[in-house]
Amino acid sequence: MLRDRGGPRVSGGSAPTTTATRPDAARGGAPALPAPPPPGARPTVVIVGAGFGGLRAARRLRHAPVDVLLVDRHNYHLFQPLLYQVATAGLEPEQIARPVRAILRRQRNLEFRMTEVTGLEPAEKRVLTTDGAIAYDYLILAVGGETNFFGLEGVPRHAYGLKDIPEAIRIRNHVLRAFERAMLERDPERRRAELTFVVVGGGPTGVEMAGALSELIRLVLVKDYPRLNVKDVRVLLLEATDRLLGPMPARLREAAAETLWRKHVEVRFGATVSDYDGARVLLKSGEVIPACSLIWAAGVKAVSLTARLGLPTARQGRVPVTPTLDVAGHPDIYVIGDAAYLEAGGDALPMMAPVALQMAETAATNIAHRLAGTPPTPFAYRDPGSLATIGRNAAVAYIRGIAFTGFPAWVVWLVVHIIQLIGFRNKVFVLLNWGWDYFFYERAARLITTMEE
Ligand SMILES: Cc1cc2nc3c(=O)[nH]c(=O)nc-3n(C[C@H](O)[C@H](O)[C@H](O)COP(=O)(O)OP(=O)(O)OC[C@H]3O[C@@H](n4cnc5c(N)ncnc54)[C@H](O)[C@@H]3O)c2cc1C
Repeated sequence: MLRDRGGPRVSGGSAPTTTATRPDAARGGAPALPAPPPPGARPTVVIVGAGFGGLRAARRLRHAPVDVLLVDRHNYHLFQPLLYQVATAGLEPEQIARPVRAILRRQRNLEFRMTEVTGLEPAEKRVLTTDGAIAYDYLILAVGGETNFFGLEGVPRHAYGLKDIPEAIRIRNHVLRAFERAMLERDPERRRAELTFVVVGGGPTGVEMAGALSELIRLVLVKDYPRLNVKDVRVLLLEATDRLLGPMPARLREAAAETLWRKHVEVRFGATVSDYDGARVLLKSGEVIPACSLIWAAGVKAVSLTARLGLPTARQGRVPVTPTLDVAGHPDIYVIGDAAYLEAGGDALPMMAPVALQMAETAATNIAHRLAGTPPTPFAYRDPGSLATIGRNAAVAYIRGIAFTGFPAWVVWLVVHIIQLIGFRNKVFVLLNWGWDYFFYERAARLITTMEE
């Protein structure tokens, strides 16, 4: 989508748009510095990250008098809330992701570059990438988060995080392979360890993952492995505090725990993991749980890139932003979504999709205000409520102060997720998949797709 009317300024890389390099760079010296924009050229807004925040900001700028350059290390936008369904063989990865170029192909003031951002030079107003430097007039950092292992050493080596498609596929392969290994195992204790699946973290991801995993095993895999004794299978959900789904009302938290028990998930409160070696989970209490699978859903933090940007960082490595979402001392740099740290009512805003989406709108609007010379708008978060599903027919919902559970909450969860999923094709395929699984107790994606662990 190259245009002849300026366009974002990229230096280095294989396919620059309008590049204007200094003579020293042309001679192969330091990375090329882009020349200042010609008089009258439109300012360039570089957006790093094509997740929830980055994509929304890009769309919001479609009629603004700017050129937008969207950068991501992947060529797709991922709908993370359904990742656990890929990990539990319910959906294929391509059903919850879509190429960024396909999503934004009609946006005339936008270009996309697949490259990894490695640093930032705020004084020169340029972003450093593995393919060269990119100059910006305004920068929106929407780089998201990563799994937080809280400094535990063994856990990141042996456990499975759930943050991206390859991780979800690894979990799927590992769970299915555990059943194949259990079929070959003669020692009953080792067989039980193969069939013990520990999920750590009682937030929405842990609750949804544990519920879906138990249903995969109890409704589907028992049919594939009739010779295995289902009594050997354990799914545990370990939570360090005394509650699941922290911010939800007590009634919903209790309903979630009860539903999980009904679905054969052993919920353990006050259970803090201190180490894991791939075969045994060690708890702070000294208890050891033999288990060959540990899925870590206990924490998130901003991507480690935020520590390499030369910007201040706060809790979880997030970059503190002003109420108008720019970084103090850097009025041209906006940080949004999981990577941004902003408090509301004394608490940090949660690392959730609605925060990223709403911040994106404010950041894009404020860039337009800057261009128009009008005062920026402070960010005000509107909480749309929270939802978590616990398998078929079961969910908890807290929307506009109303708490409800069971089938109605589950239907709301389904509708909300279908609406939010990007791409008509994805919506149709996911709906068909869910319908098929619901009526036939199936999970279509039960393939082990790699040989090695
Ligand atoms: C398993 C799971 C389930 C979740 N469920 C829910 C839910 O039910 N409801 C909810 O509200 N939220 C949920 N979340 C949280 C939600 O997905 C995040 O809050 C949201 O994605 C944050 O949006 P973002 O734009 O800040 O970052 P992201 O959507 O994570 O996007 C960040 C983008 O930046 C790119 N990127 C990162 N580093 C670089 C780099 N160095 N160079 C180039 N590109 C880079 C990434 O590839 C990614 O595309 C869930 C998260 C996970 C992992």
